[in-house]
Amino acid sequence: MQYAESLLDVIGNTPLVRLNRTADGAAPLVLAKVEYLNPGGSVKDRIAVRMIDAAERSGELQPGGTIVEPTSGNTGVGLALVAQQRGYRCVFVCPDKVSEDKRNVLRAYGAEVVVCPTAVAPEHPDSYYNVSDRLSKQPGAWKPNQYANPNNPLSHYEQTGPEIWRQTEGRITHFVAGVGTGGTISGTGRYLKEQNDQVQVIGADPAGSVYSGGSGRPYLVEGVGEDFWPETYDRTVADRIIEVSDADSFAFTRRLAREDGLLVGGSSGMAAFAAVQLAHELDDPEAVIVVLLPDSGRGYLTKVFNDDWLASYGFRPGGAQPQQTIGEV
Ligand code: PMP
Repeated sequence: MQYAESLLDVIGNTPLVRLNRTADGAAPLVLAKVEYLNPGGSVKDRIAVRMIDAAERSGELQPGGTIVEPTSGNTGVGLALVAQQRGYRCVFVCPDKVSEDKRNVLRAYGAEVVVCPTAVAPEHPDSYYNVSDRLSKQPGAWKPNQYANPNNPLSHYEQTGPEIWRQTEGRITHFVAGVGTGGTISGTGRYLKEQNDQVQVIGADPAGSVYSGGSGRPYLVEGVGEDFWPETYDRTVADRIIEVSDADSFAFTRRLAREDGLLVGGSSGMAAFAAVQLAHELDDPEAVIVVLLPDSGRGYLTKVFNDDWLASYGFRPGGAQPQQTIGEV
């Protein structure tokens, strides 16, 4: 019989799938690492298991304890999955820009959700960082802190990187990923560069975020970009950062679903847009570009995939292009 003992055993080993129509005839091979095929639906399942394992070993997380984390949803799902299997309670703190769909997913897994305003500075008492700090000081509470936990990048160094290296038989030339905590790009990128120092690592970043030189100006794409520099981001790994506008991210997210059957979130659209832009620039049939797509589009059906929502921010239906002038049709 072929079965897994629990869902936790089927985390990782996600497939690489070629971008066909959305690669727009570019010469390089562009391969997507499809992370929504993880059991919790995102790349964050990987870090959840590793952070909890390490906290159990160090004694920071005790039997019957509570996991408290500020999360935009995906890390919460991963943590909730593991917590459920091992008898921990979960309380998640998330900013109000996170979709109601995502919050309900966390509740469905049995977690509690506290919603905080986005429009306040990180040092404000109501900021989601501070609220989670207060909650994590309760007895029995443990905060994984994905922004500073070395097990976040380590999970990618030990798993995501080796998977990509094996799957491409060492032929990868460029790795592209969006940057949130920086765990994915730092861990995966470091591993790949250790195998071959010619591998180029490219971060994709929403315009306005610090990684691409912004000051933290608001943008709409979720899960990526920051207004501070997290400890989990290793500044020595990325060779280049490609800045992507919300309009381009959303338009490409819609194309991935419609043209290549990849129903993914806005940060995936952002990363894939950067990867295809890079593919056109390189114009080299020998290049093998791997782009990591972090999560599924199912969590964004009322946002990126909703024409009225797009229109309310001045984007064209279908996520095509931002409306430039009032007279344009
Ligand atoms: N996309 C989404 C949807 C995410 O939730 C995250 C994690 N914040 C990322 C991308 C970025 O991954 P990382 O934190 O590893 O940089």
